[in-house]
Amino acid sequence: MACEAAGVTPIVPKPLTSGAKADGRFGKQDFIYQSETDTYRCPAGEQLIWRYTTVEKGLTLSRYWSSNCGVCAMKAMCTPSKQRRITRWEHEAVIEAMQWRLDEMPNAMRVQRSIVEHVFGTIKDWWGGTTSEHEGWPTSRPR
Ligand code: SF4
Repeated sequence: MACEAAGVTPIVPKPLTSGAKADGRFGKQDFIYQSETDTYRCPAGEQLIWRYTTVEKGLTLSRYWSSNCGVCAMKAMCTPSKQRRITRWEHEAVIEAMQWRLDEMPNAMRVQRSIVEHVFGTIKDWWGGTTSEHEGWPTSRPR
């Protein structure tokens, strides 16, 4: 994004908290994005495929889900809905890259905490949060 184009390397953590995680169910971090196929792999090993892309509050968001949630033995740990849906922001790869950098320099987390909460609080307000059906992108402050 703009800061990378300007030669600045941002290091803010990806928000991990979601309504699901707060309820003791799998959080979005338990779903692995696979860029080569544009799919997510869930904790049960199922593939969540791209379903549609929409624009909400100016943010371009894609939604993914599996067709096998209804027969999944882990569903109670995942979602009370018909299927678990994961939302991906069009620029989420930038956030993931920042998280990878932070994973390699854990001390940076403490330094960045206050800045991070402000940044994602702003984005959250901009987007307007998520519904329980569309869990996955920031519904509350980072852990
Ligand atoms: S409910 Fe769906 S998304 Fe969740 S673990 Fe099972 S198959 Fe995967």
